[in-house]
Amino acid sequence: LYVDSPLAADQSVGLDHERAHFLRHVLRLDRGDAVAVFNGRDGEWRAVIDGFGKGWCSLTVVEQRRPQSGSPDLWLLFAPLKKGRIDFVAEKATEMGVSRLMPVFTRRTDPNRVNSDRLRANAVEAAEQCERLSVPDLTEPLPLFRALADWPTDRKLFLCAEAGTARPIAEAMRATGPCPAAVLIGPEGGFDQSELDELGKLPFVVPVGLGPRILRADTAVVAALACWQSLSGD
Ligand code: SAM
Repeated sequence: LYVDSPLAADQSVGLDHERAHFLRHVLRLDRGDAVAVFNGRDGEWRAVIDGFGKGWCSLTVVEQRRPQSGSPDLWLLFAPLKKGRIDFVAEKATEMGVSRLMPVFTRRTDPNRVNSDRLRANAVEAAEQCERLSVPDLTEPLPLFRALADWPTDRKLFLCAEAGTARPIAEAMRATGPCPAAVLIGPEGGFDQSELDELGKLPFVVPVGLGPRILRADTAVVAALACWQSLSGD
């Protein structure tokens, strides 16, 4: 269970209504039962339920079960998609170990808004489910070229562009070797040519392909991340 408080032996942790409801009515836990908690900084701890009140629950932290582990150094830049599909992206990217989620607006991005609270809630839930001990950072949604303005030059950006034309992603990632990396996936309507031209001029951009078929953007996210994960082993 993700908690937004420091974790140390004997520390008390209060949970909000939603989390209290989850423990009591979904997991059917009671006073004295143990729960595993993490906060993204202090590792995983065993905590014990002290009690439930109306809309709250309090825990006492007992002992550390796993030290904090670092997450792989992989960022995902993606054009926001419609509701269910963007939920899927946040969930799958978290499961695949992404350390930073970066929604970016491209010229053909539709919708042009992002519900950051919802994205973060999906990432938290996925982190809990897959037992990773961190939740990816979620950056403020920005126009693509603003997000790239202060780009760290040692971080390669694998640009998933058009089907069939660019170098296969696995080949490009293998050639680049271990390094800080990021993957960029476009919107359902694809990048426009002027964006691809501009991206092509940036020294850290590596255009890559995901095979001969045009994948939906959410499928492309999973395909690219699975490739990176299988090569890096992280
Ligand atoms: N009509 C658009 C086009 O041809 O570019 C389709 C865009 S696709 C539905 C959404 C995004 O997924 C693309 O912008 C790209 O980032 C990624 N994508 C899908 N299939 C791909 C492939 N075979 N190779 C590389 N990227 C792909």
